[in-house]
Order: sequence, then structure tokens, then C-alpha cells
Amino acid sequence: MTPVNARSGVQAKLDSMTQAAATLAKLPGRLPAFRAPLPLARRRVTLCRRLRQRAVACAIVTLLLAGCATVPETGRTQFMMVRAAAELDMGLTAFAQIKEELTLVEEGPEYEMLQRVGHRVAAEAEPLLARRGIEDLEWEFLLADDDALNAFVLPGGKIVFYSGIMPLLEDEAGVAAVMGHEVGHLVGRHAGERISQHVLVAMSMTAAQVALARRDPQHRDQIMAALGLGALVGVMLPYSRLHESEADEIGLLLMARAGYDPREAVRVWERMAAEQETRPPEFLSTHPDPERRAAHLREIMPRALEEYRAINGEDVAAAIRH
Ligand SMILES: [Zn+2]
Repeated sequence: MTPVNARSGVQAKLDSMTQAAATLAKLPGRLPAFRAPLPLARRRVTLCRRLRQRAVACAIVTLLLAGCATVPETGRTQFMMVRAAAELDMGLTAFAQIKEELTLVEEGPEYEMLQRVGHRVAAEAEPLLARRGIEDLEWEFLLADDDALNAFVLPGGKIVFYSGIMPLLEDEAGVAAVMGHEVGHLVGRHAGERISQHVLVAMSMTAAQVALARRDPQHRDQIMAALGLGALVGVMLPYSRLHESEADEIGLLLMARAGYDPREAVRVWERMAAEQETRPPEFLSTHPDPERRAAHLREIMPRALEEYRAINGEDVAAAIRH
């Protein structure tokens, strides 16, 4: 009679798993053996690594060369590796989620004003958007019941104004200033550009990781951390401010073409800056500081006033002195 083994089947499985795990845990320690004393094998590993580094570098250079686009009105060259259709899809997906969380105001004078201004500004933006391959947008101008001084836009022509910002905007021209700015982000394809930058940074990090793979892990981690911080501070933030300035510029032209006095934009941003003391507007936290913004607007005002004059026949020389 064979004595019954005290260990159950489950325990046996656990034991074998523990043994397998222990073997796996030892693997890194065995890796030097993988480098093999054979010079040929060693050369093959180095060659593979070099090829991988070159492949990643080539992919980045190709993307940089192929992915350039020009922003209408400002003429800025931007790095773009996201198709307009993909950007739009991402915008619509995000919008569907955000819309669920908003309490919407769908009637009343403020809502009506938002629709009027929105459609007028959007009509001026459509020829510019068409040049970027963005057509037949289903524009939506939502008014959310929220005290925050905020407004935002998502790819796909989805623009949200919070009710808290409406009193500060005062009238149609005030709404047009912020509307122009938001639509300006769409014309600039800023969302697509930000996504492209993120992808590029991620790819560069991978390339750096491959290049540093041979260094000791601690040193490598420090370099990777510094690279990550550098990428964030050096690439992301300045671009964000650049986008805001560009949205101001395109927005000023759009509001003027839609028949709204572009000088009203300066007054809106001044009122917004004054609010900063007591009620920091969320809108300003990611936007250029008010002085820089005012200086930039003054620079482009003559051109916007020309456009405004073409519609309203106002004496542009007198308007600039205003
Ligand atoms: Zn903005």
C-alpha cells in the first residue's frame, strides 16, 4: 500500500508555482550568461540594439518631416501627425462624456445670444476650417449652469460657455470675443497639435530609453526623470501659451469678420483680468497673462479693424486712434 501523500493536489500546484516564480526571479541574475562569451553572439546583440535605435530615430525624423501643417491666418508651421478626422472623433467622444455632467440652460436671452453669436462667428471660420480638411461640422453652443468664469471648446465644433462668464461679457460683442477665441483654437487645430506633441514626446522617451539601456539602471532612471520633466516644462507649457495667443489672434479676426467691433475683445480681457483679484477665472489659469495678451492684441488690432471696416465702413484711422 502506497502511503497517501500528505500534500494535497492544490498544495502541489502552489509549490510548483512558487518554484517557477523563484526561477523567474533569478532570471535577471542569469542575464550576463545570455550575453555569452561568444564574440559573434555579442556582436549580434549590439547590432540589434543599434538597428533598433536607428529605426526609432528614423521613425521620428520621418514623422517630423511628413507631419507639418500651416495654420491659416497666422501662417505658423505646426507639427501635426493626427488626421483631422481622428481629432474630431476624439473631441466628440470627450464631448459626449462632458455633456452628461453639465446642467444645461436651453432657453432665455443669454442662451439665444450665444446661439446668434456662435453661428455668426462659426460661419466666418468655416472657410478656414475647410482649408484644414474640416467640413460639415455640427456646431453646438452650450450654456452650462455653472458660476465659474469659464468657456471651452472641443474638436467637432462643440463650444461650452458657463453661465458665470456671461455677465462679465456684457453684450454680443463680448460674447463674440470669447467665441472667436474658442473657434480660433479649432482653426489652429490646437488639440491635434497637442496630441501630436504628446505622441512625439512619448516616442522620444522610448528612443532615449533604448539608447540608455546599456547604462546602469539608477543613472538611467535619473536621466529619464530629467527628460520627462524637461519635455513637460520645455515643450508643453510654452506651446500652450502659444496656442492661447494664436487663438486670440484668429479670434480677433473672426469676430471682426462677423461684424463685431474687435476693440471689444481688449475690454473683455481687461474685465477678466480685474476679476483675477477676487475670483480667479479658470479661463485665465492656462492663458497668457493679461499684459502680454493686451500687447499682442494691440499688435494685431489694425488688421482686425481693417476687416471690421470692410464690413461696417468705419473710418479705420479714427478707429485705431480710439
Ligand atoms: Zn484658450
